[in-house]
Amino acid sequence: MADDTPGIIDKTEERGSLTDRLAAFTRARETFDWEKVRAEFEGLSGGGFNIAHEAVDRHATGSLADNVAIRWLSKTGASLDITYADLKHRVDRFAGALKSLGLGKGDPVYVLADRIPELYVTAMAVFKIGGVFCPMFAAFGPEPIKQRMSIGGARALVTTDRLYRRKVADIRADLTTLDHVILVGDENGNRDGLPENTHNFHAISESAVPVTDCARTAPGDPAILHFTSGTTGTPKGAVHVHEAALAHYATAKYALDLRADDIFWCTADPGWVTGTSYGIIAPLTVGATMIVDQQEFEGQRWYGTLQDEKVSVWYTAPTAIRMLMKLEDDLPKRFDLSHLRFVASVGEPLNPEAVRWGVEILDKVIHDNWWQTETGGIMIANAASLPVKPGSMGLPVPGIDAAIIEHAEDGPLTFLSDPEAEGELALRAGWPSMFRMYLGQEERYAKCFRDGWYLTGDLARCDEDGYFWFVGRADDVIKSAGHLIGPFEVESALVEHPAVVEAAVIGIPDEVSGEIVKAYVTVRKGYEKDDALRRDLLAHARKRLGPAIAPRQIEFRDSLPKTRSGKIMRRLLKARELGLAEGDTSTLETFE
Ligand code: ATP
Ligand code: MG
Repeated sequence: MADDTPGIIDKTEERGSLTDRLAAFTRARETFDWEKVRAEFEGLSGGGFNIAHEAVDRHATGSLADNVAIRWLSKTGASLDITYADLKHRVDRFAGALKSLGLGKGDPVYVLADRIPELYVTAMAVFKIGGVFCPMFAAFGPEPIKQRMSIGGARALVTTDRLYRRKVADIRADLTTLDHVILVGDENGNRDGLPENTHNFHAISESAVPVTDCARTAPGDPAILHFTSGTTGTPKGAVHVHEAALAHYATAKYALDLRADDIFWCTADPGWVTGTSYGIIAPLTVGATMIVDQQEFEGQRWYGTLQDEKVSVWYTAPTAIRMLMKLEDDLPKRFDLSHLRFVASVGEPLNPEAVRWGVEILDKVIHDNWWQTETGGIMIANAASLPVKPGSMGLPVPGIDAAIIEHAEDGPLTFLSDPEAEGELALRAGWPSMFRMYLGQEERYAKCFRDGWYLTGDLARCDEDGYFWFVGRADDVIKSAGHLIGPFEVESALVEHPAVVEAAVIGIPDEVSGEIVKAYVTVRKGYEKDDALRRDLLAHARKRLGPAIAPRQIEFRDSLPKTRSGKIMRRLLKARELGLAEGDTSTLETFE
């Protein structure tokens, strides 16, 4: 890579030529060993490993005992600091409560709650007793709740009084495996009509005998059940194990530059895997202070939180960044963001325009990284030590081997080394946070693996410097007149136009070309959604992409369909366009 490669953003503090730094990164990858990471943990005697021990107990009994583990910002504006020692106290008591209810190793305990402290305490208490923690979005309706709890055979549910009455009471009788419901927030409320085995979170914690030591779980014992976002179809239940924490910890250091003295804010809800791997486990294993914001997105308040809490590492998502980009450009300048050292994003491709906006308006480089529910942790990332090529998701983190491959249905893998070649992104199987099953779908799980590689279902390419570029999900790629078109490229070109906030691109059947490209766009305030703008956008796209790839049709929309984790659901736009069945919409946020 030449030092003057156009478009490259280099604001790293490292010295030396880019070639030297890439070589240093390669050396870090070569000398990396998961066993060395394991050695940074305490482990349990006899070779056991438990997330709660590494995330809470060892800090609570060590030098970080008085460090704030969680700073909770409530909806009412009040805040609560929970130190590592406090957290252990709360976790030990709730673990005791779970035990007193007869819950233990392998038992699935679900949570349906917004970001309240009890959610975080529950996660660690479930790990502590060797149970399986399964978080759900508080906004789910009764059907998605029932579907997920039935698939995982939930034995207990921790929720709030309000959510229970609105969403669970009517389906409880259908949940045949569910033995206990534990409510937060009904302390002084009316307990009339609540069935037996409905408990109060704080009351059972108070009366329980605290569990001080973690269950002797093995590194490969199940710990987490996480459902995928449902962007491409029915959500799948991915099971992760205790030693996944090795990857959460190592990637937090390598890909998020996180340290124990950091104030870390992961804006994701634990209903999405990012909010569990990096919104709970990673910061606690590192020993950092994490911000938990109970409220939903509000741009001005978010900038206020970054400033007031002196956030130093911020992990967010492209959809949030695009929402911030919609606000006035001088807004961030009114806040002191000087404590912010590292900004990262995950979940969807980060348009190059968003990276440039970060540099220009926030004065920060936004570091994109890539992973999936199935991978459990960050796999490909723009690390702090390397320059960013806007639009690229970066390089595989140490401990992870990635490749671009091609394969027939059941045929052998062909590895593509041409920097222009687009193919399926594959990862060498065996990293600690690799999912160990799709619950109830053995065959589907087996199909994800071939010759020792995990096939991700995403298409990408790898350039001559080893940077990976996202092309699209295999399901979303458009085949038009002999070209394979990744929606990301087209969407990114449209987002570069000053009128466009967000874009989603699909292929619609066409007799001549096979498929033609259609784009849906949302428009910035102050622009008329008229034919003149449509023509302007078409011309802009044609100029940027050429006529073969540019969209033929553009439709203006007030919003795009998104999952609760903020991912654009192109399959729904397509279903509406073609009058097809909409399929599973359990994770859909809003769509008029
Ligand atoms: P489902 O599997 O149910 O359709 P999903 O794939 O959206 O849902 P997640 O596991 O939450 O569920 O998302 C992982 C996917 O998100 C990746 O496979 C990829 O398509 C996309 N993704 C995540 N990060 C990035 C990124 N940095 N760039 C591009 N795409 C990304
Ligand atoms: Mg997926």
